[in-house]
Amino acid sequence: MHAGRFLVSLHDVTPRHEKAVENILAFLDSLGIPPVPLLVVPDFHGAWPLAEHPGFVDRLLAWKAKGHELVLHGYEHLERPEDAALPSGWAGRLRRQFLTAGEGEFLNLDPQGAMERIHQGLETWEKCGLGKVEGFVAPAWLFRKHLPHTLWAEGFSWTEDHQGIHFAVDPFVRAPVITWASRDPARRIGSRLFAPAALSHWSRESLIRIALHPHDLDHPTLVRSIESTLRAALRQRGAVASPLHL
Ligand SMILES: [Zn+2]
Repeated sequence: MHAGRFLVSLHDVTPRHEKAVENILAFLDSLGIPPVPLLVVPDFHGAWPLAEHPGFVDRLLAWKAKGHELVLHGYEHLERPEDAALPSGWAGRLRRQFLTAGEGEFLNLDPQGAMERIHQGLETWEKCGLGKVEGFVAPAWLFRKHLPHTLWAEGFSWTEDHQGIHFAVDPFVRAPVITWASRDPARRIGSRLFAPAALSHWSRESLIRIALHPHDLDHPTLVRSIESTLRAALRQRGAVASPLHL
């Protein structure tokens, strides 16, 4: 029987977070983690268009050359007011406000709206010369049912939700995800305790995802939790660099 594997990814890669991204990649490298997918936001919060930051685009290309897969991660990573106004019931509104802080860009997009946002992302990709993109991850993993079909029609090979990884041609791969919430103290305490427990709780899972965000290293207690979780994962499992290598 195969030992389990784990897949680390870094979310919210944008010139807005350049320094933090560099720090996290250096940290991962120091632990011996192989290259990880970088989830790139083409125009973070409508204020950080990649094409206007050629120095950062060069960094992306250098990371890609080292083996980091560049993944499309929404377009602005922010739900526009006109999209949030669409009816989605009280549960959707609660989820949007409290779980995502308005970052669920694809939560309420219909197929047409999702396709337009994806096309904008692909245009940026093209303009910046980032090469072929295989993966798309919706901000906060929130999207409506139709999104995978839209992605396959646009030539993408894989996408993720909270439960696991969907592929255009291969079967769904279940993969629970460990994240650290760095936004406020209560969440920091919760995720600090949750992460190490999750790794043993899910010891029988064949694949575990570990998702990092740029602000995760800002808090010393989270750094310790992340480091011990990653070290334990390295001891217990094999690291994979991309869903394409599963
Ligand atoms: Zn994100």
